Amino acid sequence: MQRDCYKVAIVGAGPAGLFAAYELVLNGENSIIIIDKGKDINKRKCPLQSYTKCLKREPCNVLCGLGGAGGLSDGKLNLRADIGGNLNEFTEDAQSLIEKIDKIFLKHGASKKLYGKNFDELEKIASQHGIRFIPIPQRHIGSDKLPSVISSLRRELEGKGVRFLLEKEVKEIEKGERFSLIMEDEIIEADYIIAAVGRSGAEWLSKQAEKLGIKTKHAPIDIGVRVEVPSVVMEDIIARIWDPKFHIYTPTYDDFVRTFCTCPNGFVVMEDYGNYISVNGHSSINEKSGNTNFALLVRVELTEPIENTTAYGMAIASMATVLGGKMPILQRLGDLKAGRRSTWQRIKKSYVEPTLNNATPGDISMALPHRIVTDIIEGLDKLSKVIPGVAEDSTLLYAPEIKFYSMRFIVNKNLETNVQNFFVAGDGAGLSRGIVASAATGIIAARGILKKDMG
Ligand SMILES: Cc1cc2nc3c(=O)[nH]c(=O)nc-3n(C[C@H](O)[C@H](O)[C@H](O)COP(=O)(O)OP(=O)(O)OC[C@H]3O[C@@H](n4cnc5c(N)ncnc54)[C@H](O)[C@@H]3O)c2cc1C
Repeated sequence: MQRDCYKVAIVGAGPAGLFAAYELVLNGENSIIIIDKGKDINKRKCPLQSYTKCLKREPCNVLCGLGGAGGLSDGKLNLRADIGGNLNEFTEDAQSLIEKIDKIFLKHGASKKLYGKNFDELEKIASQHGIRFIPIPQRHIGSDKLPSVISSLRRELEGKGVRFLLEKEVKEIEKGERFSLIMEDEIIEADYIIAAVGRSGAEWLSKQAEKLGIKTKHAPIDIGVRVEVPSVVMEDIIARIWDPKFHIYTPTYDDFVRTFCTCPNGFVVMEDYGNYISVNGHSSINEKSGNTNFALLVRVELTEPIENTTAYGMAIASMATVLGGKMPILQRLGDLKAGRRSTWQRIKKSYVEPTLNNATPGDISMALPHRIVTDIIEGLDKLSKVIPGVAEDSTLLYAPEIKFYSMRFIVNKNLETNVQNFFVAGDGAGLSRGIVASAATGIIAARGILKKDMG
């Protein structure tokens, strides 16, 4: 068995791992290894074919490899501290951290175009109707450019002495005097670990945490629907911001509802997780539909007697999957409000033609809890004051759309866990949910190590 020693071992070559290495190496740390079970970005191909594997948590090209999850996406950079996580929890300097990350992406070839105009007017209209519009400067790297940006970042890191060990899965982490990262045919020893394993490694990391006595807690989940409207309904707002985010508190329950992942001229897709199905959306450069879709999600957090939001979300997802006959449930908003199921006949009478036909027309109120259905109807009604047309009877809803997040690691401000020198970063530790936020947590963890090492 080959054995090598490093000062810092980073598990995961997603944004969190790459930016952690960047910060370390730029500050003089030269004994760094990044390990990833996936392939180099240029070898990561055929995302759609392997997507089902990813959803079932099998090793896949979409979630694993250099660049991490979304390495094959069009790479939207949300340049705001409270989007994709809340960086203000860990640093008072979140904005400069974001600017730093943006500059690094630009240096490596990200598109110079910055989206986001006329925010003031949108903020004003939204607040007049009791909604919060979140102004976010956004940059699109673009799916065609993302592989070259990530490759260029890798070249710079390698040029500065960072070692990349790809297509190697860390099976176990053991703690003795140093940490041992055990792979099939190799052991890496390190003084410090940054576990930046993303969603694809979250379950594995939770098990390692349990074994090593690292403290974690359950995180909230998001439950809701995918909303589909004719693209003309959203075109004015899309012209100003690619992925508009609105935060709404609903009148009846005072619950937090938000819009997420808008796909202009996009398609609704079904995701098969094996034991349940969910929906998502995507938009493509070459193929365009006449509709725009976005997720409308209700935040669910549990306290007593159980905190296990994952178990609760799974139960809802399973029920919806049974009811839809292993397909998403499709319903017109008008039918949901009228308390009747949708049928293909009723849907055909609508102005909106569904982009996902692999769905069962039915009754979402039979699948999702009453409280969530009420939140969705009220949320859409409020949203229609800012985006007229989104809450028409013909608006289509697909359910369930459920977003599970990783167990949240309990960390200090440097992202060090209760086990000394064991740092975590990114989505896998429940600290982020996006490229920029995960990259930022990588930098924060790296700074934590630099502080400890110098101190
Ligand atoms: C299809 C898709 C599109 C997306 N689009 C966007 C977008 O436009 N904008 C945005 O902000 N976010 C987007 N995201 C989310 C974004 O990609 C993630 O939030 C981000 O990549 C998280 O970064 P991370 O470094 O924490 O983890 P990841 O990027 O998930 O990287 C973790 C890495 O760890 C590796 N790993 C896991 N376990 C092990 C192990 N045991 N041994 C070795 N290696 C391991 C994995 O192979 C993986 O490469 C998208 C995600 C997906 C799936």
